[in-house]
Amino acid sequence: MTSNNLDRSLDAVIVGAGFAGIYMLHRLKNMGLRAKVFESAGGVGGTWYWNRYPGARCDVTSLEYSYSFSEELQQEWSWTERYAGQAEILQYLEHVVERFQLADDIILNTRVNETSFDEETLRWSITSSSGSYNAKYCVMATGPLSTTNSPDFPGLSSYEGETYHTGTWPHEDINFAGQTVGIIGTGSSGIQSTPVIAEQAEHLYVFQRTANFSVPAGNHALSAAEQNDIKADYAGFRAQQRKLPAACHHLPRRESALDASPEKREQIYDDYWKKGGLSFLGAFNDLLTKPDANETAANFIKDKIRQIVKNPDIAEKLCPDHLFGCKRPCSDTGYYESFNRSNVSLIDVAETPIETFTNKGIKVSDNEIKLDSVIFATGFDAMTGTLEKIKIVGRNAVTLTEAWSAGPCSYLGLSVVGFPNLFIMTGPGSPSVLANMVTGAEQHAEWISDCIKFIEDNDLSTIEATEKAQNDWVEHVNTVADATIYPTCNSWYLGANIPNKPRIFMPYIGGFQRYERRCLEIQAEGYPGFMLV
Ligand SMILES: Cc1cc2nc3c(=O)[nH]c(=O)nc-3n(C[C@H](O)[C@H](O)[C@H](O)COP(=O)(O)OP(=O)(O)OC[C@H]3O[C@@H](n4cnc5c(N)ncnc54)[C@H](O)[C@@H]3O)c2cc1C
Repeated sequence: MTSNNLDRSLDAVIVGAGFAGIYMLHRLKNMGLRAKVFESAGGVGGTWYWNRYPGARCDVTSLEYSYSFSEELQQEWSWTERYAGQAEILQYLEHVVERFQLADDIILNTRVNETSFDEETLRWSITSSSGSYNAKYCVMATGPLSTTNSPDFPGLSSYEGETYHTGTWPHEDINFAGQTVGIIGTGSSGIQSTPVIAEQAEHLYVFQRTANFSVPAGNHALSAAEQNDIKADYAGFRAQQRKLPAACHHLPRRESALDASPEKREQIYDDYWKKGGLSFLGAFNDLLTKPDANETAANFIKDKIRQIVKNPDIAEKLCPDHLFGCKRPCSDTGYYESFNRSNVSLIDVAETPIETFTNKGIKVSDNEIKLDSVIFATGFDAMTGTLEKIKIVGRNAVTLTEAWSAGPCSYLGLSVVGFPNLFIMTGPGSPSVLANMVTGAEQHAEWISDCIKFIEDNDLSTIEATEKAQNDWVEHVNTVADATIYPTCNSWYLGANIPNKPRIFMPYIGGFQRYERRCLEIQAEGYPGFMLV
């Protein structure tokens, strides 16, 4: 995996070696194209290379959160847990790279800084930290959650303790034994890591700005019998999976939460709570569309928090005040229980804001909390952050950042007006973070490679979205979002965690199956909505 003696004129450049880039490379290589992946990290794996924090694991079941493209692969590989941990998912991706002999075409430790479309040659020029390349096609497999968000706290530079970000966790083992630790942020990463760090640290302070909903994961070791059940007809299982709104879990139950009697509702929520995991969102079919229905679920979870957390004041602070699911819901192992430990304190930043970091810790109101280490579990500049860090220059020298100054717009999330032969995987305008992202990556890799095959077979030079198709798609993405509870709260889905970012609901919430069907129709009809030259 070195950049020595590389042919610098390629058919396709893929940026990113996570689930999306790895499978994209496999598809293009199988078509006989000269394709290379550029990856800034020192290894493959993307999210699972970077997010090594204690407790990191998937919240889509392992048997679903894995590739389906090779029957041999899915039969051979065995998962140890219902929800695999970071190390196991990384090991799986490394295995895939080796098994399909992809390593020679993945250039590690190489950041793509700029890519610009040459209107004369109709090719992309790519400038990277290991030199320049050009290619007919450019595929951005850069991930929707790959640029960390690190708020600029006053006084941070004077802090003398250790700092960590969950999204760029060090490779060596960090043990917090004997330390007083602060963790800032109570999204998914904060909620996953809090119980694990609480067990190590002398004392853990959890700094919470916004309380978040979390349901128990119900994680457990996977038995051979459980896996064999699915492996007996893995293809059938996968076909079913692709028909689900989020390409995982189950179909929502076909009943409104408002039609069920209070007793029945309680019983159903209780069953889902015991089963564990984010399929809780499908306990009734209107939790994501009707605020009244949603409140019944939100109230059930808040009652659970009050039952679990013994101190009633802390329990109240942990109860969210938004609708369930409008911010990314979390799935945990012992999160709320952590607050019953004598070595865990909740600092409600909404009540006592972080005034400043000091050289010894963090000052909230008049109280200085001395900390040996601070963990930023402050998430990502989601969906657009990584793309906009690369200078992507399209026709007429317009950059993607300029094209998206009022918010991201695209046709199907895959293609942007003015950027011919540039494809974006699992980006804004596609189901992305609202669905099983491995299935999303596979669907995109398949659609993009089929599209490239069409261009090559028909001796064409470029494909590019039309203005009308893009506008219609953006309108559709907004219409389906507005019919849900998602836009009702400030979330990273809307860009609300990043100062000055346009507030647009970015992922496509119309359902994975509906999205895939539309993509396939467009392919079958010869790419309406695209200009083919
Ligand atoms: C802790 C955590 C848990 C998650 N759990 C789930 C889950 O349970 N289910 C689910 O569906 N999703 C989950 N996700 C979302 C997860 O990001 C996706 O599932 C998936 O791993 C994304 O794969 P990807 O290949 O699209 O992007 P990534 O895995 O993010 O890979 C993108 C790669 O591109 C590289 N890159 C970016 N810019 C450049 C550049 N300019 N030059 C070179 N390289 C670049 C990055 O270094 C990165 O390695 C989780 C995310 C996190 C952070």
